Amino acid sequence: MRIFDPHIHMTSRTTDDYRAMYDAGVRALVEPSFWLGQPRTSVGSFVDYFDGLVGWERFRAAQFGIAHHATIALNPKEANDPRCAGVLDVLPRYLAKDGVVAVGEVGFDSMTPDEEKAFVRQLELAGEHDLPILVHTPHRDKSAGTRRTLELVGVAGLPPERVLVDHLNETTVGLVAGTGCWMGFSIYPDTKMDEHRMMRILADHGTERILVNSAADWGHSDPLKTAKTGAAMRKAGFSEDEVDRVLWRNPMEFYGQSGRLLLGVAAPEATFAGNTIVRGQSSEG
Ligand SMILES: [Zn+2]
Repeated sequence: MRIFDPHIHMTSRTTDDYRAMYDAGVRALVEPSFWLGQPRTSVGSFVDYFDGLVGWERFRAAQFGIAHHATIALNPKEANDPRCAGVLDVLPRYLAKDGVVAVGEVGFDSMTPDEEKAFVRQLELAGEHDLPILVHTPHRDKSAGTRRTLELVGVAGLPPERVLVDHLNETTVGLVAGTGCWMGFSIYPDTKMDEHRMMRILADHGTERILVNSAADWGHSDPLKTAKTGAAMRKAGFSEDEVDRVLWRNPMEFYGQSGRLLLGVAAPEATFAGNTIVRGQSSEG
């Protein structure tokens, strides 16, 4: 099983996690920028964090044979803090960098006017930089947040195939399924989505435009949830090809639209958007 985790916050994970992920088949991942628990008080804190995502963390992942990519954005929660407003001005510098494969994660936390303003500006930035965009949907009022998200995406005029709406569940998947946007599901150890509920969604909606991630961070989470979802798919009777599509080819195809995946080029095992990947190898490791 080859796995591309399309949403995981490795900055908060250990080298044991990297090792276990590699052993489970993870060969590539995307680390979206987000909040860090403790509120940041200046733009400089974000600059150092973004530099870490495209520098140190990529190097750390490479030591364990995993290709690390990032998405860069002002996250929804800190969009409410006026001290962080200047982050929007430093984003263009990072959105031009190698290995930055989308704007994200953007979207709503509490659905405030300030969140919406930052979200709209970052939808524009995705258009200006010709990048896909990763949209976080709120954990409270998820349906309302998802609906407003889709309205704003429509107003921005971004092609739906360049938009990933993440953290969906049974109540919100139907809102996104017909839009042409990609559908992301975060699989957690308890509450929210789990791998067994995910089987039902895959049975109902198929494997097209569906991404599964662990969204692991410093909270209670499991960086092996992608592999566990693959195992549940096999047990539920999905084919190896369907498992590979959800866990590998779909994230490759979505983030490959950036033209910036950092993957090995030794043999054309699979190719998307000009990027070539070889199982078990990365350009770094
Ligand atoms: Zn996240």
